[in-house]
Amino acid sequence: MTKQFDAIIIGAGIIGTSIAYELAKKGYKTLNVDKNPAVGYGSTSSSCAIIRTYYSTADASALAYEGWHYWSNWRDYIGDDLESQLISYRDTGSLLYKTEGNRMLANVPPIMDAIGCPYQHMDAAQVKQRLPIIDMHRYEPVKHVEDDGFAEPTGPEIYGAIYFPKSGYVNDPQLATQNVKEAAMRHGAEFIFNATVAEISQSNGRASGVVLADGQAISAGIVVNVAGPHSGKVNALAGIGGNTTIKTRPMRQEVASLKAPDGYDYEKDGPICADDDVGTYSRPESGNHMLIGTVQPPCDELDWIDDADEFDGNISEQIMTQIMRQAQRYSGLQIPSSVNGIVALYDVSDDWNPIYDKSDLPGFYMAIGTSGNQFKNAPLAAKIMATIIEKCESGIDHDKDPGEFHLENINWTLPLKTFSRNRQINADSSFSVLG
Ligand SMILES: Cc1cc2nc3c(=O)[nH]c(=O)nc-3n(C[C@H](O)[C@H](O)[C@H](O)COP(=O)(O)OP(=O)(O)OC[C@H]3O[C@@H](n4cnc5c(N)ncnc54)[C@H](O)[C@@H]3O)c2cc1C
Repeated sequence: MTKQFDAIIIGAGIIGTSIAYELAKKGYKTLNVDKNPAVGYGSTSSSCAIIRTYYSTADASALAYEGWHYWSNWRDYIGDDLESQLISYRDTGSLLYKTEGNRMLANVPPIMDAIGCPYQHMDAAQVKQRLPIIDMHRYEPVKHVEDDGFAEPTGPEIYGAIYFPKSGYVNDPQLATQNVKEAAMRHGAEFIFNATVAEISQSNGRASGVVLADGQAISAGIVVNVAGPHSGKVNALAGIGGNTTIKTRPMRQEVASLKAPDGYDYEKDGPICADDDVGTYSRPESGNHMLIGTVQPPCDELDWIDDADEFDGNISEQIMTQIMRQAQRYSGLQIPSSVNGIVALYDVSDDWNPIYDKSDLPGFYMAIGTSGNQFKNAPLAAKIMATIIEKCESGIDHDKDPGEFHLENINWTLPLKTFSRNRQINADSSFSVLG
């Protein structure tokens, strides 16, 4: 017998699970289907879960600043009678370094002023005060380790930074997803795992459900693609691959984890850093460790992947490149002989901003292209998707009338065309994980 739901959500990462929570609260009977064994096992499990508010546009920054309010008040959003322990969110503050390449961050203060997000300009001495273990030299442009001039300063001092006090990280992104799952289940949401969607069923020109790899058919008038790096493959199942102006593609990433320099409690006192001068981002991790990722400096080739099911999961020399770049900033960083880290995929859109939209197939929706930077926005991505789905299902043409979404905590109204699959590429984008 065919099971019947209002909405099938393909994927149970942080965004797919949050969409279940928001739809279930509105009374939809939802089912998340995930090929992994539990929630948050896809790219969410590898997330650095950094919550920061600077993006290339006011709307993207506003969304992130609104998102900060959810992580800071997680118990209010999720409730407190869950079986799982609640995640903890820590405001560490974050430093965004000024460089010639990022035009001294001239675009950032007007955006932060517009959205009412606090920040502070710091000169080099103030940065040193905030983070006493840093090497103050300037190194831009970012280089490869084997390039002439690597680790040779190009200036005596960094230009300074912008400091954002309302910024930090979530201790466990998978646990965050488990929290949301339990909250969603209290509203009737259902989940199945170890179940791969192999077909998107259609009838009368609409999505009408899914067929799993084991042949089981499940019906629903609404199907939502939240498949992370598999988003392109799932769109192809729906027959809409290539129908959008903005495309998404998987990109391989490595994040290193290593001990912070001795003599400094980086876990307790260290801020998040986005350092265009050496091409890395970093955050504190338990055990006085430091997580080190890359901000896609222009000298690096991007590691695009053709098929999200086939990529090299082994650490490569890229991870050592990131560590060596970071070591320019921290002379006390000890380079280990064997490196710990993770290899994962981003689902990158053409302008590194997400698609939260309907599709050309009625009843089929997409929350994709999260480009390594949408963990922080999951609660809002879910609210936006629930709004779009409700609107479209009531007969409104979302393409003609995309409408707006109000961010209550910061009193900012967001035009939903920002997330359209057919928008113009955001030319202001950093075209990196910074969005
Ligand atoms: C290394 C790394 C670091 C990151 N750091 C940050 C950060 O610091 N801050 C931030 O805001 N964001 C960060 N991100 C981005 C953030 O983690 C993602 O945007 C977010 O987790 C995406 O969630 P999701 O639910 O859309 O996708 P996912 O978590 O990838 O979930 C998609 C799910 O779909 C399932 N699926 C796919 N195809 C099928 C199918 N055919 N049938 C059934 N199931 C299917 C998969 O099994 C998977 O579980 C980072 C990402 C990575 C990889």
